[in-house]
Amino acid sequence: MYSTPRDEHRAGDLPGVPAPFPWAGPGLSEALDDAVLLSNEMAMLAAERFRSIQRLHAEMLSHVGPGGRSTRDVMERSLRLEVASALRITEYAAEELLYVAVTLVEEYPAALISLTHGRITEQHAKIMVKLLSEAPEEVRRPLVGRAVDLAEDLPVGSFRRALKKLIEAACADSAAERHAAALEGRRVDLVPQRDGMATLEIHGPEVELRAMHGRVTAMARAIGEAEDETRTLDQLRADVACDLLVDGSTTVHPEQVRGIRATVVVTVPVLSLLDDDAAGDPPMVEGFGPIPIDKARELCGGAREWMRVLTHPETGMVLSVGRTQYRPPAALRRLVKWRSDRCMAPGCGVPASRCEIDHNVAWIDGGCTSLENHAPFCTGHHTVKHHGGWRVTQIPDSGGAIEWISPAGRRYVVEPERRVPVFTPSPEPAPF
Ligand SMILES: [Zn+2]
Repeated sequence: MYSTPRDEHRAGDLPGVPAPFPWAGPGLSEALDDAVLLSNEMAMLAAERFRSIQRLHAEMLSHVGPGGRSTRDVMERSLRLEVASALRITEYAAEELLYVAVTLVEEYPAALISLTHGRITEQHAKIMVKLLSEAPEEVRRPLVGRAVDLAEDLPVGSFRRALKKLIEAACADSAAERHAAALEGRRVDLVPQRDGMATLEIHGPEVELRAMHGRVTAMARAIGEAEDETRTLDQLRADVACDLLVDGSTTVHPEQVRGIRATVVVTVPVLSLLDDDAAGDPPMVEGFGPIPIDKARELCGGAREWMRVLTHPETGMVLSVGRTQYRPPAALRRLVKWRSDRCMAPGCGVPASRCEIDHNVAWIDGGCTSLENHAPFCTGHHTVKHHGGWRVTQIPDSGGAIEWISPAGRRYVVEPERRVPVFTPSPEPAPF
């Protein structure tokens, strides 16, 4: 039923060509045939999945009235959350899936047909969409046919290189114009790593990045010449770059941003600060996770850039101010954010410190300003909650769990990171 594109002459099939190794018997070629057949079926299934994802998108668009851009943006976000939750992937991956599916079905049907017949893999299709989408619009469509031919002919690595070359040759733009366009995509990303580490990635013009690297290296070398210096050049570079970014300032920025310093919220149980052997929760950095106790002690020692939230097992806390005021007091806001640690939408990782505090039952509908009625949502999910067609409620007596019912009718429950103990008054009068 499925064609295998590259054929088909195996050593041993041809007269005079012996099987090269003793293990290359019929079992080997049978297993390989199975693998090829299954890969073809996976390609076909991938094509079907792209079609169904595109149908979802088209269905969503059919409900967007003439309301314009902002309605459509909210619906797109809502659909992204719907797909991510149902497939249990990140919203970033869902966005990519939606983009590839819509583009393949609506713009590159030849590639989709090739995928359906197992002549290219899902990976080929994704590379094609990605590379072509970066090309200027006028060169895209004329290239699709040749791109499909290349994809049917080459393994993914060679295909990527060949398609890049093809696109570059087709681009009439001068290199300078393309660089100016690429410059629009400059950015800085923080990528968490294991063991309390992370990588800061700067994507920008090569000339300036080389200048940064050169300066950091020169400073590191100068520091490394000191007699008692034990750090390696790599370590010195990292330390110098950190110092410059955390504490450095420059006169090229406007006056009002010059004094800005980083703020990181770190929650440290008081007992663990006092005692090495104290059991219980480790110190946590919001949106990130546990950090070593020595680091926490160092942070609590002084540095003003760190906002400390010390938690004590017996500290009283503000749980509710009822309907006496709309805006939650600072202690309550802090508690709501501490409890959730991050945005309470399914799968979202935005730290609570960057979230908005939502009245789950709106104030005008009688909602209280209380722990039971608050949860943090990032700006995007806050909009999806209110305008994206989802029904979002805090589950009573759950300690802050949020239930999301999607426009398609699926139910997701997001549990908070931590529990706030509930204090119920004792019926006996206190002994003092
Ligand atoms: Zn969110």
